[in-house]
Amino acid sequence: MPKVIKNVGCPYCGACCDDVEVTVSDDGKRVLEVKNVCAIGTQIFMHGGDHDGRIKLPRMRQPDGTMKDVSFKEAIDFTAKTLLKAKKPLMYGFGSTNCEGHAAAARVMERAGGCLDNCASICHGSSFLAIFDNGYPSCTLGEVKNRADVIVYWGSNPAHAHPRHMSRYAIFPRGFFTGKGHKSRTVIVIDPRFTDTGRVADYYLQVRQGHDYELFDAFRMVCHGHADDIPDVVANIPKETILEVAEVMKNARFCNFFYGMGLCHSDGRNHNIDIAISLTRDLNEFTKCTIMAMRGHYNITGPGAVWSWQFGFPYCLDLTKKTMVHMNPGETSSVDLAMRDEIDAFINIGTDAGAHFPIPAVQHLKKHPFITIDPSRNMASEISDLHVPVKICGVDDGGIVYRMDNVPIQYRKVVDAPAGVPSDEEFLDAVYERMVELEGEGFI
Ligand code: SF4
Repeated sequence: MPKVIKNVGCPYCGACCDDVEVTVSDDGKRVLEVKNVCAIGTQIFMHGGDHDGRIKLPRMRQPDGTMKDVSFKEAIDFTAKTLLKAKKPLMYGFGSTNCEGHAAAARVMERAGGCLDNCASICHGSSFLAIFDNGYPSCTLGEVKNRADVIVYWGSNPAHAHPRHMSRYAIFPRGFFTGKGHKSRTVIVIDPRFTDTGRVADYYLQVRQGHDYELFDAFRMVCHGHADDIPDVVANIPKETILEVAEVMKNARFCNFFYGMGLCHSDGRNHNIDIAISLTRDLNEFTKCTIMAMRGHYNITGPGAVWSWQFGFPYCLDLTKKTMVHMNPGETSSVDLAMRDEIDAFINIGTDAGAHFPIPAVQHLKKHPFITIDPSRNMASEISDLHVPVKICGVDDGGIVYRMDNVPIQYRKVVDAPAGVPSDEEFLDAVYERMVELEGEGFI
């Protein structure tokens, strides 16, 4: 009999929907059907939960350029030796890895004396910089659902990037103090592009590309009683609209800003987030107001939480001076390290640096050993010297993940993994053990 498993967490985007229903075959090896999940999440379960389509053995590049299946023991040995031989190895990724994997990776890179970084380095890292400077007056998605009556999406498009965000947390659900759902909320979308999220907005403000900071400044001027001094048009938005929207925010019972990469990666970067936080603080003179980053992958919040606890820093960790960990984005961030050709061994884990890094950075990394740890083929795996397949958290592996609002959620496996395929944590722990063995044998 097929078995229905309820309250499963979806391992795709930072919304971390944990109400998914998965029907699995009676042998526990195949996902047959999923409910309460968007089109993107469906693909994760249907492809991940199908053993026929999975890679089951590591693939090592041969002298003639082809890839050949090797055992996990050989893959562990190759990875351990690569890390021990390197002067400055880098392990990067972790958006699609559970927190147990993050901790195991930290143990390995601390022993290897290398650099450790996560995808925030090329996405919400600028948010971290602003948060360090200006604080983070945030809340949980549960509070948004139950209390928020004014929702602002600024530089983010959840209709495509986090498809159930609006229906599960922000706009449509009926919460404790938002019993009429969509009818009890005012939606403001601020974006240079008119997106599908813009279609549900009560106010759509087409800010001029790269001029978000000026618009924040105008809203702050209204909050500080200087509305008369605002020019007739700011960042493409007429003064009357700015005043009207500012009144909506000030008169909210609970207002929340959700912001995305459109804000933290357009002109201004961390300064945009800095002033967004300042506006949030200003609005608390009139009402309750909070702010939240729309984190992309389902557990990209996780490495920031785990490594902050272990080392005191969320990303861009330099562990080369073993007695003193430091973080300095621009110096110790992955792309900058690669562009300066400082890295002599690279491990791409739970992400696709091949697709996301600038081509010159990838070209530098490719001069040295290049390893990918990922359940699937991607651009990085196809240029790697070694590709190690692992379990998929939330499909055939459990573990802790951190939702975009920093709430930890226990994910669980719904089907058995292909025989012999380890989790990220199991593989990295085995690499660590092998490094200890090799050091004992006098390797290097
Ligand atoms: S919104 Fe995100 S977490 Fe929710 S089902 Fe879709 S991909 Fe999964």
